[in-house]
Amino acid sequence: IEEINFVNEPVLNYDLGSTERTELEAELVNIKNGIIDIPVIIGGKEIRTGNKGLCILPHNKNKVIGEFHKAGKKEIEMAIEEALNAKEKWEKLPWQSRIAIFLRAAELAAGPWRAKLNASTMLTQSKTYKQAEIDSACELVDFFRNNAVCLQQIYSEQPLSTKKVWNKTEYRPLEGFIFAVSPFNFTSIACNLPSAPAIAGNTVLWKPASNTVYTSYVIYKLFQEAGLPDGVINFIPGNAGEISDTVLSNKNLSGIHFTGSTKVFQNMWTAIGNNIYNYKTFPRLVGETGGKNYIIVHNSANINSASRGLIDGAFEYQGQKCSAASRAYIAKSVWSEVKENILEKAANIKFGDIEEIDTFMGAVIDKKSFDTIKNYIEYAKNSKDAEIIFGGNCDDKIGYFVEPTIIVTSDPHFKTMEEEIFGPVMTIYVYEDEKFSDMLSLVDSTSNYGLTGAIFAKDRYAIEQAQKALVYTAGNFYINDRPTGAVVGQQPFGGSRLSGTNDKAGSKINLMRWISPKVTKETL
Ligand code: GLU
Repeated sequence: IEEINFVNEPVLNYDLGSTERTELEAELVNIKNGIIDIPVIIGGKEIRTGNKGLCILPHNKNKVIGEFHKAGKKEIEMAIEEALNAKEKWEKLPWQSRIAIFLRAAELAAGPWRAKLNASTMLTQSKTYKQAEIDSACELVDFFRNNAVCLQQIYSEQPLSTKKVWNKTEYRPLEGFIFAVSPFNFTSIACNLPSAPAIAGNTVLWKPASNTVYTSYVIYKLFQEAGLPDGVINFIPGNAGEISDTVLSNKNLSGIHFTGSTKVFQNMWTAIGNNIYNYKTFPRLVGETGGKNYIIVHNSANINSASRGLIDGAFEYQGQKCSAASRAYIAKSVWSEVKENILEKAANIKFGDIEEIDTFMGAVIDKKSFDTIKNYIEYAKNSKDAEIIFGGNCDDKIGYFVEPTIIVTSDPHFKTMEEEIFGPVMTIYVYEDEKFSDMLSLVDSTSNYGLTGAIFAKDRYAIEQAQKALVYTAGNFYINDRPTGAVVGQQPFGGSRLSGTNDKAGSKINLMRWISPKVTKETL
């Protein structure tokens, strides 16, 4: 393989009558017209356990498009064995051959598989055309290609040798198997979690999110078509607790690649701690978890772009991005102007049918999520410290719909200012202009998470001050932009504090976590 150059996959805009629009519409119909049966896949073998779950649409909860078989203890043990067997050959393949398979997957995903990936993402996640395109087409392809580039760079680094001493680094994978656990909200992340360790020569047990098994199965089929050997990635949908118990107590566990809730990741650390004397090595734990991301609007901000940032940052994909803005701090002198502007923008949000091209928001993922979000909204409705200035209605008759909701509070410690909601709810606190630095200290002290944050300001001094005061509140910080929509290769993504291990998805930092280098010295 020659040196690969990385460029981001272009975003298509699905104009009426375009080939991509026609193909995507056909796939939407196709998926809705069938009910597929999704097996567990271990060592390339399809297993139907008969213990089944349903694939439904969040915006049309009675519509079933698939059934999936759940892996139990027996299947998990089999999968571990198959992963260990497959690894013997996989890690010995020249790295160029491993990369070539994932680059082939990138070509397929960017071309003939694009419509299928996008259609299943739209339907199973309730994503709009635009949100699906930037996820299951562009970001997914970008991860494949950028991982290949990063790996090529890593493998080409060698230590110094001298006339008397010859030194060499071998970039081995980890010894054992990797457990990848993926979330519902991004198809690209679901795909990258097993892919990143695999491209580095590891073999993987992949547990996809139960809500989006359908889309993860499409990804699995893509891996197969790209030529990924059997057993390198084993597909094990099922009950998270049951699967984790078996996987986390296995002595050959060498790493976890996780995106999901803080609580689940903490539980995994606890289980790992409890099993620490059983392992052959120290499992590497890589996780991206929750966020309570903020936007600050300084009095020098451009009001229109700040307002656009507030609305997009809070409500794109129904606020279900880990990076979504869910709290905002707005300078009092510009508040009435910002308020008028965001209310107008919020009123223009097209909400509902994701199959219409200009829809901005669909439904939230499931009943559990709907109930949680609704409870937070009810809490705000009943509180004397908060006022709902927009939205606030929830309706789950047909699908799990929650209106874009804006709360204003006089209490900077109000529940919805501090707790992660993972839905289309933004809470605003208005600060006194002259108390800018106190507000920054407040943001820092209330940031238990540390994923993303943003400031809108023209005043460079204010921007500088914010960056100095908010060092660990965000792994991704945005100046004059919303805090979502990180692009692979441009803004490597991840946060610290309770937001995870900050191993930056789609970067060399991340790939190094799946590599255990061996250095050999030969005296000449
Ligand atoms: N990378 C995404 C973004 O920047 C968020 C990823 C996530 O939700 O986990 O918006």
